[in-house]
Amino acid sequence: MVVGRNRNAQLVIDKSAIYDNISAEINRLDDKTEMFMVVKANAYNHGAVQVAQIAKAAGATGFCVAILDEAIQLREAGFVDEPILVLGITDVEDLPLISKYNIDVTVSSVEWVKQANQVFEDLKLKNKIKMFLALDTGMGRVGLQTTNEVDEFLEFINSKENNLLLDGVFTHFSTADGKNTDYFNFQYQNFEKLMKCFKTKPRYVSVANSATSLWHKMTGSNMIRFGVAAYGLNPSGTVLASPIALKPAMSLTTELVYTKQVQPGRSIGYGATYTVADDQWIGTVPVGYADGVRRSMQGFKVLVDGHLCPIVGRVCMDQFMVKLPYKMNPGTEVVIFGKQAGKEITLQQVADQCGTIHYEIACGFTERLPRVYK
Ligand SMILES: *Cc1c(COP(=O)(O)O)cnc(C)c1O
Repeated sequence: MVVGRNRNAQLVIDKSAIYDNISAEINRLDDKTEMFMVVKANAYNHGAVQVAQIAKAAGATGFCVAILDEAIQLREAGFVDEPILVLGITDVEDLPLISKYNIDVTVSSVEWVKQANQVFEDLKLKNKIKMFLALDTGMGRVGLQTTNEVDEFLEFINSKENNLLLDGVFTHFSTADGKNTDYFNFQYQNFEKLMKCFKTKPRYVSVANSATSLWHKMTGSNMIRFGVAAYGLNPSGTVLASPIALKPAMSLTTELVYTKQVQPGRSIGYGATYTVADDQWIGTVPVGYADGVRRSMQGFKVLVDGHLCPIVGRVCMDQFMVKLPYKMNPGTEVVIFGKQAGKEITLQQVADQCGTIHYEIACGFTERLPRVYK
């Protein structure tokens, strides 16, 4: 998809908001605890390289990504020294790249390490394979679950010290953003049980994503994987209050490209789902679901000239219509979420409208919308 540079529609990214969110969290950490900034999925669509630069300036010492390609993107963008951890599973066939780019990979099975060691020896790779061991304490996604598995893993890697380097160990909580802490505590107990297998701890021990870091004690941990909160979004949605002021970094701004008065009895958009009752001014906005503005946004109120105006009729692929309070001209600014004239629409409100979470909305904007940094 081409980037729409000649259309006034863009994701505006507030760099200082990201900087402030990261600094605020780093200020709450003890001296021994480092922050790895999570920049997977193009930094939740905020732009991986730009966010990595801000995060580094604000004090983050490493990065987490989801897939190997995202790690390589950062290395090639000039982040040559920082540890970069791939949180997902990588293929042993990619070890030449992993070794060449000095990437940390997540290990989730003893089988994988044995294969990795074999590939390392067969191909005579130069850099040791750097790994984080994932412990599945109850998330049920990746990681070793039992002390037997961890013992077997540690025994194997200790026997292959020339090839394999255990850089860290981490676990991931599934309910750190909720009011009820029972399952969180269950997972923590499992974590502490599994950690007893280690005679010496690896350099990094990490238990926290944003939610765990904001709302829980992180005993025995020295690195956090900070994601969504850095972008100014509350990981719990509206369930828990954040101990730091979260400044939303992303907004979506565009303009009216066409306005007209519509006679009563006529309808707007596909399916004629909205019929004009009295003389109304209707504006057309040049973004749609191909940009990630979902069809379920029908009825949502966006900001136009300081007024909250409802989206009327169905959202089309490339355009949608809004009901205006009075005659407005093409070129009038439209804010789908973000601030205008002292009013604010949040991604949380968009997510509520669409029946999902802000993470998914942020990730859902497509490359047709350029990112503009301010
Ligand atoms: C995505 C992810 C994170 C970051 O989560 P946030 O909720 O965005 O802070 C941390 N750890 C793992 C394993 C992840 O997959």
